[in-house]
Amino acid sequence: MKNWKRDLLLLLSLLLVGIPLYVFSVFYFEIYHVAIEFVAVLVGLLIFTVSALSRKFVKGTFLTQLGPGFLAASLVTFLHLLTYEGIDLIPGHDANLPTQLWVLQSLLLAVSVFVSILNRRSQDGHYWRMGAYLGLGLAAVLVAFSGVLPAFVTVRTADVSVGLGLTLFGLSFEYLIAFLYLCAMALLRLWKRGSDDAMRESMYGTIVLFILAEVFFTFTNDPNGIFAFSAHFLRLLGFVLLYRSVVVEGIQKPYRSIFNELNDLSQTDGLTGLFNHRHFMESLSRACETSKRTGRSLSLLVFDIDRFKNINDTYGHTIGDKVLQEVAVLVKEHVRASDIVCRQGGDEFSVLMVDCPQDSTERIIDRFRKTFLLATLTEEGIRLTVSGGLVPYRGEDPIDLVTRADRLLYSAKNDGRNRIYVASENGTLSGGTE
Ligand code: GH3
Ligand code: MG
Repeated sequence: MKNWKRDLLLLLSLLLVGIPLYVFSVFYFEIYHVAIEFVAVLVGLLIFTVSALSRKFVKGTFLTQLGPGFLAASLVTFLHLLTYEGIDLIPGHDANLPTQLWVLQSLLLAVSVFVSILNRRSQDGHYWRMGAYLGLGLAAVLVAFSGVLPAFVTVRTADVSVGLGLTLFGLSFEYLIAFLYLCAMALLRLWKRGSDDAMRESMYGTIVLFILAEVFFTFTNDPNGIFAFSAHFLRLLGFVLLYRSVVVEGIQKPYRSIFNELNDLSQTDGLTGLFNHRHFMESLSRACETSKRTGRSLSLLVFDIDRFKNINDTYGHTIGDKVLQEVAVLVKEHVRASDIVCRQGGDEFSVLMVDCPQDSTERIIDRFRKTFLLATLTEEGIRLTVSGGLVPYRGEDPIDLVTRADRLLYSAKNDGRNRIYVASENGTLSGGTE
């Protein structure tokens, strides 16, 4: 499904959740508030955890910058939750304390989003960043609890913890937060297109939702009203949107790349880059199945370098390795791209040839043998010959096909080397030296 369609669907389903949630909040605002802030704290902590864990694997991305700010903001939000009307864990304060904690954690988030976008390529300073944000979080808590700041909200009486709207001072913080988010959006526009695109798109969405949350918050003059509901709900949506891309960037992408790399490693031979024995066996059974089903021809060539030990003994192992690498290149040049070339181990190779009719195999194989006869390999100008056997598939068990090819290879070796025997459909043998 296209991205915008998926997002629209998500938005609609969120509206479906939002409307009943609003009705619920009208009657039980305290429960709504606890639930929503609790989820926001949880998501914030998860964003921090994912970013911290993926720091070693996905270097220099926006995500790895984002974590510490979200950790600090989540801790301040948790205190906001504990001091909010209805829970009032810390008595003797008015609505200014939870409001200041909320506004200050929003400011912390805005700073962290802005700085993360600005710094997104930097790979160092994780612990410094962590210390700085936790320090800012602590400062926010101390400032709010000490009551040194002028009031953020007007309160009816000192002992009623209900706010009646933001004061000019409180509002100025909101404008500052919105301004920081707008700057962050401007920075996002400068973000070059590339691998981080998904993250950028979600960040746009998150920032818009965060700004809207702050705007709604400025209109809040009744904690049980639509504005307080919307401010909290929109902020939560922003968190969820961001979390979704954090999961993609911080978990799915690294997992996928590790899986692909492991998969490649488990199927290829490290020295020559050809497929290895394991991949050969898998491809062989698949090719045999297909040949049985479709009747398409399939042949297996197994060949081995003659007297390879002598090359190692004369020139050394490193040159021997180079010879194997050049042999691999030569083989690939002489077969079709769709053929599967494998190094079975040591100096033995095999090629699975699909759709290669019987009458052309002898010609192909002879050309193949002569290529080796004429080639000079490595800077040392090493010349070598190969012996092998080519067998057509006759519907037997794949292992039996390999055994037949191996037998021909041994016969070629015993008969003097430098020859590739070709078994025909009816069992007759051809091929040999000139
Ligand atoms: P033959 O004609 O009977 O095949 O004689 P050969 O000397 O080639 O004997 P064989 O195929 O049994 O020996 C293969 C040698 O290849 C043995 C080992 O020293 C060498 N070898 C195996 N793997 C490697 C490798 O990865 N690098 C190098 N340089 N040599 C290898
Ligand atoms: Mg050999």
